[in-house]
Amino acid sequence: MPGTSRVPVSLRNLTSYKNAAAKRNPLLAFNFDLLRNIIFTLFILRHFRKAIRQLRGRGILGTLTSFYKYVLRTGYGVFLNLPGVKSRVQLQVEEALKKLEDKLVQKGPGVTHYNTLPKEGMKEEEIKEILKGLSELHHAEWEKGQVSGAVYHGGPDMLDLQSEAYRLFAVSNPLHPDVFPGVRKMEAEIVSMVLSMFNAPLGAGGITTSGGTESILLACLSARNKAYTERSVTEPEIIVPITAHAAFDKAASYFGLRIHHVDINPVTLQVDLRAVARLINYNTILLVGSAPNFPHGIIDDIAGLSKLAIKKRIPLHVDACLGSFLVPFLEQAGFPSAQFDFRLKGVTSISCDTHKYGFAPKGNSVLMFRNRKLRAYGYFITATWPGGVYASPSLAGSRAGSLIAGTWASLMKLGESGYLDSCREIVGAAKKIEAGIKERFPEDLFVMGEPLVSVVAFGSNSINVYEVADEMSALGWHLNALQSPPAVHIACTKPTVSAVEKFLEDLKEAVEKVKAKGKGAAQGDTAALYGVAGGLPNKMVVNRMAEGFVDCLYKV
Ligand SMILES: *Cc1c(COP(=O)(O)O)cnc(C)c1O
Repeated sequence: MPGTSRVPVSLRNLTSYKNAAAKRNPLLAFNFDLLRNIIFTLFILRHFRKAIRQLRGRGILGTLTSFYKYVLRTGYGVFLNLPGVKSRVQLQVEEALKKLEDKLVQKGPGVTHYNTLPKEGMKEEEIKEILKGLSELHHAEWEKGQVSGAVYHGGPDMLDLQSEAYRLFAVSNPLHPDVFPGVRKMEAEIVSMVLSMFNAPLGAGGITTSGGTESILLACLSARNKAYTERSVTEPEIIVPITAHAAFDKAASYFGLRIHHVDINPVTLQVDLRAVARLINYNTILLVGSAPNFPHGIIDDIAGLSKLAIKKRIPLHVDACLGSFLVPFLEQAGFPSAQFDFRLKGVTSISCDTHKYGFAPKGNSVLMFRNRKLRAYGYFITATWPGGVYASPSLAGSRAGSLIAGTWASLMKLGESGYLDSCREIVGAAKKIEAGIKERFPEDLFVMGEPLVSVVAFGSNSINVYEVADEMSALGWHLNALQSPPAVHIACTKPTVSAVEKFLEDLKEAVEKVKAKGKGAAQGDTAALYGVAGGLPNKMVVNRMAEGFVDCLYKV
């Protein structure tokens, strides 16, 4: 019969099997259909719910925009992989990486390489000589205050104290508190001091980590474990301002979190609260605000985020890694301030980098939690390891007790009055730079938002601000280039304080040079990189360059 012959054999077999089964046992056939229908419905429901969430979170326009961007990105990716294009792109990437290597990796007849262990140990004097040489290799002159961020203190008396602390605790390891009781005591005291600075309530707790990134990773991990344990959330999502630190993207990548980046208000440059609210759903495990953020130095509306967090019963992390030992002192120093700490009831965790404006040696940060239960969600514990019962508070196993000693000594040396003074100086310098840019370059540059702390970002409507950064480089300055939108910032530190006037004068020279330059003039490194990268719908090439850069770090 022509009608039945079109049914595929397997399906025909299945149908006849089912019919036969139904004849024998009608319940079996019913179950078979039911099961299939349930699975199908669940499948549809899951995708339907995802689509609804996407629509509710981003709106119709937002969804269409992201779809458009996706198509553009994919299309450009395909274009880059076309035979003729691919080889040309590869060649250009290799050329650019070669240039980078020449700049970063020490070469030439005068350079001795030590790529394997010396056959015999060297004499101490000789090693010290080599070390001295390495420390004096040509570098950006941070001592003159011309480097944005990077070196936060570096005063000679502080360096001596830290070195002494290092020496005394060089062999210590906080993993063994019974062997090094002094380190345990200092670590607990560092956490306690910082908790008190951020007005933590009774019952709060904290840990120290290797830096801001680790603090942020662990804040996300704790929130993830909490949501899994208490609410069985298996597809966790975090909502972060687009201006939040890249460490949140790292956390999402490491711990399998979906990350939603939220746009900022175009005037205040704070995260758009209504957009955050729209994105919240059952899977949301953490909201994030910065105090302040890295790109523009703007403090998000933490009070608003806190209200939202309370209403929706979701943890809120405040990233005060950069704000560290400045934001807690703004008010007392007489500067305009904003709410950001545990006094806001919705704030559940805060990260604060002692190694930034706490002036501690690099490799230390504090992560605080509103209560100890939240802190324990980030612990790692295993009771079955053949090596023994193992428990640790953070990513690392063994850690450097010397860093804790160095941090403790730094906090003790400056004390409240010391940090208050440094806040006055550093934020004062930022204010002078902000005012200077507004007064001296009203036509050519504008300051991004109203920065309250140490970072001043500026853009331009008339000239290429990356070219300004390149001209500043030529004058010995090391500023940070920002993107989306194009801008440049300076993060003021202790060494910057005495270089404010020089900064403004050099900026004038740089701006004038850029204006005098014709459109066709050769571009500097920053302008070339961000000029190209900014316009690309697909960042594949930039990613390849970045990978090459990291490879470069390990070339001998
Ligand atoms: C510096 C910084 C961090 C953390 O950076 P680390 O380099 O890991 O210490 C996080 N957030 C902001 C806003 C920062 O400026």
